[in-house]
Amino acid sequence: MATNQHIPMIPLRGLIVYPKQSIHIDVGRQRSMAAVDEVMETDQLLYLVTQKQAATEQPSREDFYETGVIAKVTQLVKLPNNTFRLVVEGVYRAKHTEIIESKDVTYVNVETFDEQSGDPIMTESMARMITDQFTRYVKVAGRIPLDVIDTANELESASELVDFIASQLPFKMRTKQLFLQTFDMNERLELMLTHLKEEQEILIMEKRIGGKVKRAMEKTQKDFYLREQMKAIQQELGDKDGKQKDSELLREKIEAAHMPESTKALALKELQRYEAIPVQAAESSVIRNYLDWIVSIPWSNATVDRHNLKKAEQILNKDHEGLEKVKERILEFLAVQQLKGELKGPILCLVGPPGVGKTSLAQSIAKSLNREFVRMSLGGVRDESEIRGHRRTYVGAMPGRIIQGMKKAGTINPVFLLDEIDKMANDFRGDPSAAMLEVLDPEQNGTFSDHFIEEPYNLSDVLFVATANDLGGIPGPLRDRMEIIQLSGYTEMEKIAIAKNHLLPQQIEAHGLTKSQLQVRSDVLEQCVRYYTREAGVRGLNRLMASLCRKAAGKIVRDDQKKVIITTKNIDQFLGKKKFSYGQANAENIVGVATGLAYTTAGGDTLQIEVSVLPGNGKIQLTGQLGDVMKESAQTALSYVRSKQQTYGVTENYFEKHDVHIHVPEGAVPKDGPSAGVTMVTALTSAIINKAIRKEVGMTGEVTLRGRVLPIGGLKEKSLSAHRAGLTTIIIPKENERDLEDIPETVREQLTFHPVSHVEEVLQIALDGGNK
Ligand code: ADP
Repeated sequence: MATNQHIPMIPLRGLIVYPKQSIHIDVGRQRSMAAVDEVMETDQLLYLVTQKQAATEQPSREDFYETGVIAKVTQLVKLPNNTFRLVVEGVYRAKHTEIIESKDVTYVNVETFDEQSGDPIMTESMARMITDQFTRYVKVAGRIPLDVIDTANELESASELVDFIASQLPFKMRTKQLFLQTFDMNERLELMLTHLKEEQEILIMEKRIGGKVKRAMEKTQKDFYLREQMKAIQQELGDKDGKQKDSELLREKIEAAHMPESTKALALKELQRYEAIPVQAAESSVIRNYLDWIVSIPWSNATVDRHNLKKAEQILNKDHEGLEKVKERILEFLAVQQLKGELKGPILCLVGPPGVGKTSLAQSIAKSLNREFVRMSLGGVRDESEIRGHRRTYVGAMPGRIIQGMKKAGTINPVFLLDEIDKMANDFRGDPSAAMLEVLDPEQNGTFSDHFIEEPYNLSDVLFVATANDLGGIPGPLRDRMEIIQLSGYTEMEKIAIAKNHLLPQQIEAHGLTKSQLQVRSDVLEQCVRYYTREAGVRGLNRLMASLCRKAAGKIVRDDQKKVIITTKNIDQFLGKKKFSYGQANAENIVGVATGLAYTTAGGDTLQIEVSVLPGNGKIQLTGQLGDVMKESAQTALSYVRSKQQTYGVTENYFEKHDVHIHVPEGAVPKDGPSAGVTMVTALTSAIINKAIRKEVGMTGEVTLRGRVLPIGGLKEKSLSAHRAGLTTIIIPKENERDLEDIPETVREQLTFHPVSHVEEVLQIALDGGNK
């Protein structure tokens, strides 16, 4: 035992410093700071002792534990708020015997004891046990960083070990102090062992309680969810009124729809199911959707037909310029229906290029019968379910287009336009034309079955009208059920009349203008037709009229003009530069270039065939994306020309020494169809004998190997396009002579037709210097 006199002291609050331990402490009390100041001048040794109550501001003798530690100040930082931050390191344990209060600093006299080491083996084994227990504790507790285990293992003495562990464990201050004041080494080791055990037990208990708490928490959470759900259910139950009202409304609608008994029974059954299922169930909205459809398609609502042919004629005439034959056919059709008392029998099918009035004719039929009008495009329909719908089990299932159309019509007897019936495709998803057959067959369509609706639906009161661009595109069985009415393209005169009497007045009205505000001269319309459109119908022309009106409206509103007068002089201000040149005929007679006439789904068109013959070794080249039929025509034409070799006065092995190249430019015209034979022969012959072809000649006709000219189709369309292109002499097959009467007189008068039966006659006329 030794004593030390007069050491400055600092009381600690809530903190114990053990020997060999570095710790930083903040010092703020005046006396303590004075103490620090003093030791810094001398040996930097302080006596640190902990207050029993941390809160006591000015502790007196009894307020301290009896044992403290002599510590060295190793670092001092003066903080800006006039306090000190020290790093102190414990040196040895000490017990104060006396406390001396001077004016500024408190001093103590202390006594110190030597470390009493017991039996080293005993000490070592206890130290190991402590290390083990501590290690286990740290691992399980998870609050102390794992690297303290390493630090503990590296400590040299058992004393240090216990001090270190005491500083790390979450002991109360009193216990911590106990470790400081137990000077006997063995006693301290035992103390540590008991406390470690205790701590471990506490830990186990904590874990157990933690688990329970967690379970309790989980349960409260679960209860919360259940309660929330119950709330939703209760809300649902409370909201019974809303659903009840909904199903009552549905029931009324079902009653009012006058549907067939079996359908009604089914609808009511579904309604019951709907009532029984909670709104949240996915099935509920499926049934609701079905019921919505069932009550919104017409089951009995019908318009009363107006059987008045005079009125029908008036309406057709008012809406359409010309088309005399077509109108007559339609009126006959209506007359027959009227006589029979029902509109059953063949379906009307209007066939012709786009924009010739097929849709608007069907609309007029509806108007004259006083029926609703619906339109459904079949173009690109390739799936049977588009016509017949999807089964209800599919997510987002809907009825097919027929039922959708009926819903739109709202009556059971609308005029139903099936647009572009020739553009229906079929693939692996089923053939839509089979479904269309059922729709159009009067024997079957009384019980049309839609996959979604499931109940048979009566289509027999519907008047179906179909349209097509190309008769060939309509599947045979469908075509057999239809009464075909052909419409062809319009002549220039007809187009001008349509624009003047229909399109322009309609557009003027649609744009909110009056006739006096926009005046368009007739010759302007002629220019529109000639230079701004090239088409069989009048769609483009209609668009032009719309854009004239738009521009005029702009001028009237923006520039405050009273009226706009469009003349041939200012037309390009309104429509821009001319898009087409009128008359495509070549500017001069050319060798090897013949003008053929083609028949396309968009009307007629002219088609140039170019041939050049070059020195070579008998190769034949065909270019311009020709279809198979066209290729065959070319081969046949070539064979014919070769057979005539000696009459051309060319050398005997001419074809062995020359290559022939046949080219058909102008990518837009589908180059198929069997009517280019004569044109090929003419171009070939011209190229071989080097004689130009008359530029004003157009020709059409297929040719056989012997040179016979075979008849073709679409003479009217072809003649119209020849006229449009500015040709004047047209060579046609003799057998087509009778079709000439179909050609509008205005056009016929301006063209000279040459019916021929042999290709030599064609050459006579077409080659330069031939018959005019
Ligand atoms: P399609 O169905 O044959 O493609 P539309 O019926 O849609 O043609 O006709 C296009 C536009 O041309 C419509 O506004 C239509 O009223 C008009 N039209 C077509 N032919 C005539 C005609 N002969 N008389 C008056 N307007 C016509």
